[in-house]
Amino acid sequence: MWDKLVRIDPLRARRYRDAGLWGPDRVDETVLAPSFSRGGELALVSGERTLTHGELRLAVNACAKRLKDNEIRRGDLVIVQLPNDIELVVLTLALSKIGAAPVLTPTALREYELDHVARITRPVAMAVPARHARYDHFALARRIRDGNSSLRTLFVSDVDSPDAVDLTELCGLPGSPGELVDGELATLDDPALCLLSNGTTGPPKVIPRLQEAYGYQLRTTPGLAGVGPGSVYLAVMPATHGFVLGCPGVLGTLGAGGTVVLGPSAEPEAAFALIEQHLVTHCTLVPALAERWADAAEDTGFDLTSLEVIQVGGARPRPGQVERIPAVLGCVVQQCYGMSEGLLNYTPTDADGDVAFHTQGMPASPADEIRVLDDSGRPVPPGGTGQLLTRGPYTVGGYYGDPDATAGAFTEDGFYRTGDLVSLHPSGSLVVEGRSRDVVNRGGEKIPAAELELLAAEHPGIAAAAVVAAPHPRFGEIVCLYVVPQGDWVPELPAVRRFLQERGLARFKLPERMEVLDEFPYLGIGKVDKTALRADLAARPS
Ligand code: AMP
Repeated sequence: MWDKLVRIDPLRARRYRDAGLWGPDRVDETVLAPSFSRGGELALVSGERTLTHGELRLAVNACAKRLKDNEIRRGDLVIVQLPNDIELVVLTLALSKIGAAPVLTPTALREYELDHVARITRPVAMAVPARHARYDHFALARRIRDGNSSLRTLFVSDVDSPDAVDLTELCGLPGSPGELVDGELATLDDPALCLLSNGTTGPPKVIPRLQEAYGYQLRTTPGLAGVGPGSVYLAVMPATHGFVLGCPGVLGTLGAGGTVVLGPSAEPEAAFALIEQHLVTHCTLVPALAERWADAAEDTGFDLTSLEVIQVGGARPRPGQVERIPAVLGCVVQQCYGMSEGLLNYTPTDADGDVAFHTQGMPASPADEIRVLDDSGRPVPPGGTGQLLTRGPYTVGGYYGDPDATAGAFTEDGFYRTGDLVSLHPSGSLVVEGRSRDVVNRGGEKIPAAELELLAAEHPGIAAAAVVAAPHPRFGEIVCLYVVPQGDWVPELPAVRRFLQERGLARFKLPERMEVLDEFPYLGIGKVDKTALRADLAARPS
């Protein structure tokens, strides 16, 4: 049924089971386990709406039943493009429970990316809000459905249309609870969910996270962040991203018996109000946001004393970007370096300043294997910088339905080539020194250069396009598009942005700077010399 899945080598899988790392529970069972011991305690908060751990279990079970009624079956895939709200959590767990993998998709993605995801996953359904952040997701979903014959059903919140199933009802509490029978449930061989990754060459790749491996991640990461039954985790960045979903994030906190507050905005004032109101202990931020929170906290009227740990990751903080956090936010900074494909690294919550502020953490599991290799594939000497390769009990073995991408990113013995350049600090923590892949990291959002270059080159006035990262005080990096114009086109950034947006590209990927050259510098093999472009950019006024 899952013939497009790449599994971890059976011998290694057996080792993880024998060592007790992989357990016998499905992911929904792990996440919902506290409903037995802490059924009356608060599990989820979103605006005025709340669910206890007991109610969450009932809602997931009822949703699973209703999914069956809507002919969603084991082996199906369903695109889930939802904001941080209760429906996202209930639907994700219900789909996972019946073995119909949710493909979690940030709301920022548009037609260009989603069409590609739909072609790979052949989803039978798609879940969207009717509108979100002034964007019409229902119309987007209809267009994706029109172009993809497998897609039959649209689950849409806050809309009354014969063309859609009401998502709020689908995920609501049952009149009478019902249990599914065994044959209707996912097995441990099914993916629990799929995340999306941005690679080097084009639109997102689909990362199937398998039940046993993802369950292990969800059980292991709460302890590393000090998350337990009394913890309150605030999700303000998109919970469809792996970092917010499960490191420990939303699902790990629920599984540990804590409470999750789903926030609509990462803006400091809105988030601070939620921290004060719900006595939030933990939160996950990218460095640029952490810095803005630190700025805003200096003279806020909100009481932030409940905060214990702010996890900072997704990009390496600039020097000075996170050092102020303990003083102004009154909590520990935990650096996290990881990837949707698997490997997660954390600085210890009691680390000294050097490790806490200047390293990106050590692997979450003793069974994580890491290699730091030079360009010829040999291990670098201690302290040297090299490419990071990894495999382990929660790192995937490949991408869904994409053998070429899998062959490019994974070695034959199952190591994932992260594309990151790292060195090993004497403490055992990794330091991310850079990356070998051509990706712009805009405050944690990854923008593959090749994807943008291909699309920009379709503009009739552009003869050649090349993307380089321009330094930016807040986001770390932003996209600078170099173009060689053709014909009588007058290059203007707003027109290029409009052109790309009309092609269905997500807004955060649009270039924020454009430079024009008569011709590009080339390396001998016809490859644009980006080192020369970066030098050119550095010499120009910003
Ligand atoms: P994603 O799969 O979207 O989570 O992106 C994973 C990539 O983000 C990694 O391979 C790194 O390139 C980058 N990344 C994540 N966390 C960090 C960090 N703490 N420091 C530097 N780069 C990071």
